[in-house]
Amino acid sequence: MNERDSEQVSRDLVSRGYEMTPDEKEADVVLLNTCSVRDLAEQKSLGKMGMLGRLRAGRPEMIFGFLGCMAQSRGDELVRGSGHVDLVVGTQKFHRVADYVDQLWQRKVRLRDQVMDDERYSIVDVEEEAGSQETIREHVLAERQATAFVSIMQGCNMHCTFCIVPSTRGAERSRRMEEIVREVEGLVARGVREVTLLGQIVNLYGRHEFEKRDEMSPFVQLLEAVHAVPGLRRLRFTSPHPIGFRDDLVYAFARLPKLMPHVHFPLQSGSDRILKAMHRGYTAEKYFALTEKLRAARPDIALTTDIIVGFPGESDEDYTATRTLVERVGFDNAFIFKYSPRRDTPASNLEGQVPERVKEERNHDLLAVVNRFAKAKGEALVGQRVEVLCEGPSKTNPDRLSGRSPGNKIVIFEGGERHIGEIFDVRIERSTGFSLYGTPAVL
Ligand code: SAM
Repeated sequence: MNERDSEQVSRDLVSRGYEMTPDEKEADVVLLNTCSVRDLAEQKSLGKMGMLGRLRAGRPEMIFGFLGCMAQSRGDELVRGSGHVDLVVGTQKFHRVADYVDQLWQRKVRLRDQVMDDERYSIVDVEEEAGSQETIREHVLAERQATAFVSIMQGCNMHCTFCIVPSTRGAERSRRMEEIVREVEGLVARGVREVTLLGQIVNLYGRHEFEKRDEMSPFVQLLEAVHAVPGLRRLRFTSPHPIGFRDDLVYAFARLPKLMPHVHFPLQSGSDRILKAMHRGYTAEKYFALTEKLRAARPDIALTTDIIVGFPGESDEDYTATRTLVERVGFDNAFIFKYSPRRDTPASNLEGQVPERVKEERNHDLLAVVNRFAKAKGEALVGQRVEVLCEGPSKTNPDRLSGRSPGNKIVIFEGGERHIGEIFDVRIERSTGFSLYGTPAVL
C-alpha cells in the first residue's frame, strides 16, 4: 500500500516537471513514505532521515519530508525533533504533497540569500479529508511494466488490539466501483497484464457503500467487474481478513480463471485465547476450515500468512497451538513478526508483555517450520512447467529475468528483452524455498 501511495506522489511530482532520481545525493527533494506497523519501521525512517540531514550542508534549498503513517501519528513532533524536516503529510493528504513541495521550493528559492539558520518554515498536514480514498488512482509506469497495484479502499474498522492502522489510516472508506474499473482499463491499455487490488481488509470493500447483489458481496462484484476487463490476464488482491471471507469469495477462485490461485491470509495466532485477546473475531478451527474450503474450491491454491509471536500473555501452550496450526495448514510461506507495542493500542497496556528473548526464540523456531514447508512446496514444482508473467530483470541478479507463478512464487530464469511483460511457461529446475529457478520452455 505504501508503494502504491508513493507511486501516486511520484506521478503528481513528475506531471509538474520534477524528475525522479535513484540517487538521493542528486535530489532536491527527498520524501520518506513511512510505516508504523512496528517500531522497527519507525526507527528505520527516523534513522534514515537523520543521515539525510548531512545532504543539507551547503544546500539550504533542499526539501525533506515524511509522508504516510508515521507522519500521521507523530505530526509536527517530526519537525521539532529534527533540524531539517520541512514537510510532514499524513495518509489522507498524499494528493497535496506536490502543492506543498512547490510552495516550499518557491519560498526557499525566493528567500535563498535571506533565510537565517534559525528561521524554520515547515508544512504539516495530517488532517482527515472526506473522499481521499478516490485520490490514489494514477500511475507512472516503467517501460513494459506488466503489473500494477490498484488501491480500492482506505482505512480499517477492525480494531485488532495490536494494530495502529485504524488510527493512522482512519476509518474504512471505499472507492467507487466504476472508478476502479476505469483505472484498470487504463492500465491494461498501457500494457499492464496483472493488477493487484489493495486494501487493509480488502474483502470488506464497499460494505458501507454498496448493496449485496445475487448473494454476492460488493468485493466479489468488484472482482467480477475487474475480471471482465478485456486484455487483463491476471487478477490478485491483498490482504483479506478471515472475517467476512464468505462462500461467494471462496467460490470466486473456482469461477474466475484470471483470479490467481494465491491468498495471503493473515492468521496472527493459532491460539483461541490469544485470537480473542487480539480481537480477531475467529477461532483457529474456523480459520483452518476456511483454508480447507479454499483448497477444495481451487486445489492448486497457494496460501501465505502473517503471524505475530509474543503477543502479551502468549504462553508456551499458546505458541505451540500456533506452531501446530502452521504445520496443519502447511503454508507456502509466511511473514512472522515479533509483537511490537504500538502507541495508543489496547494491547500495549496489557499485562504479561513477553520478554524479547522469548519472542526471538519463538520467531526463530516458527521460521524454521515455515521454511521447511516453503522448501517442500517449491521442490514439488521441480520438473514441472509453470506459467510465469515476466516482470523484468531480477532484483538480485540483473543478468537474469524474474517473474511470478500463478501461486505468486518468484521464478528466476535466463531470457531476453522479448520475454519482459509476456506470459509463458518456464520449466522449473531447482528451488531454494524462496525462489524457483528454470528455463523458459518456449523461446
Ligand atoms: N490487513 C491485515 C490483517 O488482516 O490484519 C494486516 C496488515 S498489517 C499492515 C501487516 C501485518 O503486520 C499484520 O498482519 C500483522 O501480522 C503485523 N502487525 C501489525 N501490528 C503489529 C504489531 N503491533 N506487532 C507486530 N506485528 C504487527
